[in-house]
Parts: sequence; C-alpha cells; structure tokens
Amino acid sequence: MDDIEPPADLPQHFARPANEQEAAWSELWDQGRTPWDRGIPSPALVDLLAARNDLFNPVNSDGSRKKAFVPGCGSGYDPVLLALHGYDAYGLDVSEKAIATAKQYAESQLRTPSEGNFPLSGQKPSVSPGKVEFICGDFFSKDWGEHKFDLIYDYTFLCAILPAKRRDWTKRMSELLKPGGLLVCLEFPLWRDPRDPGPPWGLRGVYWELLARGGDGSPREYGDEEPPPAENAEFKRLLRVKPERSHKIGRGMDMISVWQKV
Ligand code: SAH
Repeated sequence: MDDIEPPADLPQHFARPANEQEAAWSELWDQGRTPWDRGIPSPALVDLLAARNDLFNPVNSDGSRKKAFVPGCGSGYDPVLLALHGYDAYGLDVSEKAIATAKQYAESQLRTPSEGNFPLSGQKPSVSPGKVEFICGDFFSKDWGEHKFDLIYDYTFLCAILPAKRRDWTKRMSELLKPGGLLVCLEFPLWRDPRDPGPPWGLRGVYWELLARGGDGSPREYGDEEPPPAENAEFKRLLRVKPERSHKIGRGMDMISVWQKV
C-alpha cells in the first residue's frame, strides 16, 4: 500500500485502443488488482480544506450544501472525505466493482469516520456531514446525467487517462463546474518522466499547459518560469502549493493546485 513504485506491467495492460481503456480498468477491478489504492483519503486535501475555509466553505449563503465531485473515485476515500467536511459529495467510477466497494466504505465511514479524514491537529469541521452518492459511469459520456458541481477534486484521474484525452478532460471539467466553481488538482506524478508510458502518466508541466494555456496538455519543461496564461483560458489558477503531507507515492514532489472556472 505504501509502495512508491507503480506496477511495471500497468502500461502494458493499457496498451489498447482509446475505446477499450474503460474496459481495461474494469478488468483490473474485477480481478481484485488495484495497486493504486492507498487505503486512505488524500492527506493533502484534508489539510487544504482545513487551512482554507475562505475557499472551501461547504455551505451556500441560502444554507444549502455545495456539491463536490470526484471522478475516477475508486474505493471512494475522497468523496467520503468531502462529505465529512460538509459537502454533498458524488463519486464516479467506470467500474461497478469500484462503486460497490466505495458504497461499503462510505457506509462504515459516515458512521465512524477514521482519523485520516481530519488534519493531524484533530480539528473537526464545524459543519455536519453531507451525503455521499456513487455513480457508475464514464466521465467522458453524458449517459450518467447533466450535473453541475461547485467543487471537483482530481487525484489519479488525469494521470490514468490517455494523453490524447486530455483536451476532453478539460472540456468535461469545464462543463461539470458551475461558473466560479473550483477544480482542485493533486498534481501527481511529477517525478515520472512524461515521455514514459502510463498509467500513471507523468504530469510535470501538464496542468498549466492544459488549464491556463488551453493547450493539449503536452508536457512542457518550463523551468521556474511559466509562460503567461492564455487570454481566453477557461480556468484561472488561484493557488499552487506544496502540501506538507501527501501520499508516499508522490515522493515528496506532489503539488496541490486550485483552479477557478471563469
Ligand atoms: N482516485 C482513486 C482511483 C485511482 S485509479 C484512488 O486514488 O484510489 C483511476 C480510477 O479511474 C480507476 O478506479 C478507474 O476505474 C477509474 N476510471 C478510469 N477511466 C474512467 C472513466 N473514463 N470514467 C470514470 N472512471 C474512470
């Protein structure tokens, strides 16, 4: 679970056409092969939610709850974390097995949340938990309904899809967010050579290229200097920080960035 080496045979398993990728994920779930599964919610997201109440108030001014979404949610750790922090949370995965696993996990966690859902200080959210719902479907398709969210969290989803689908990822994120909504990206893996086959696909220099420059997400080595954002970019980066805590597989290089849909 704490491996920092992604399994070497994953890229080979996914060396198939674009329209067979989702089936390849479901196969792994059905075989019980889920080497990406860390068993806990993202520590970096836990800490960010606790530190930035200004950005992450889960309640609207009329008292209703904001809606949070996690695509490629796997076992459901992060949707549950968001629900425990007051959002009405939705998790999507293309694998039925993943969704069944996530539902079970949510049931036990909403009854008795584990400490990993909260910062090390033990500080608990001031808002009561929201609900959590899981949907089985393909992120890129509209079959699972028209939805608009206030917050979307991407961890190990962008790095799981084929680079050729990155533009579609941006377009879909934009469709799924309300204007002013937030896309939170745990940028991973930044240590992996972007030219190596994935998953996980190395993402150094990819988020800026996709979201601020409106490009196709080809990795760019900028050094310290990012080129200016495109004038018509659909997303504006509000912050990018190095989290104090993250999963070990990030090898101390993960970054967390928050993007606002303009
Ligand atoms: N975020 C989870 C799972 C990461 S693995 C975690 O950190 O544990 C990537 C997940 O995305 C897998 O569970 C896979 O089934 C799912 N997935 C891949 N392509 C998808 C798609 N097009 N739509 C929805 N889910 C997808």
